[in-house]
Amino acid sequence: MWYIKKETLDFILGAAQNNYPYEFAGMLRADKDTITEVLLIPGTRWHETSATFLMNMIPTDLSIVGSVHSHPGPAIPSQADLEFFSKFGKIHLIAGYPYDFQNLRAFLPDGTPTRVIIK
Ligand SMILES: [Zn+2]
Repeated sequence: MWYIKKETLDFILGAAQNNYPYEFAGMLRADKDTITEVLLIPGTRWHETSATFLMNMIPTDLSIVGSVHSHPGPAIPSQADLEFFSKFGKIHLIAGYPYDFQNLRAFLPDGTPTRVIIK
C-alpha cells in the first residue's frame, strides 16, 4: 500500500492543471511507503519521448520510487506508459483530467491499478 502527503498530492494536481492541455512529468520521491516529493523534469513531453530518454533523465537517487505524469484526458495508461512503468520504479501515477483526486490513478510496474491513500 502506498501513501501520499496531502501537499504532494496538491502539488501534482496543481501542476497538471497549470500545464493543461500539455502534460507535465516528474519523478516521485518517497520516505518509505509515503510519496513526499515530485522532481519535475522540465520540458519533457512524456508521450513524445522515448522511455530510454526518460530513463536517462532519472537522477541516480535511491529515494526515487516511480513517476508521475498528466493526461489531458482520462488516466488510462498508453502502451508506452506501460512499457516505461515495467522498466523502472515501484509506483507510477497518472493525473487525468480534470485533475482531482478521483482522476489520479496509480499503477504497479506490471500495469496493475493500485491505490494511494492521502496521509
Ligand atoms: Zn501517459
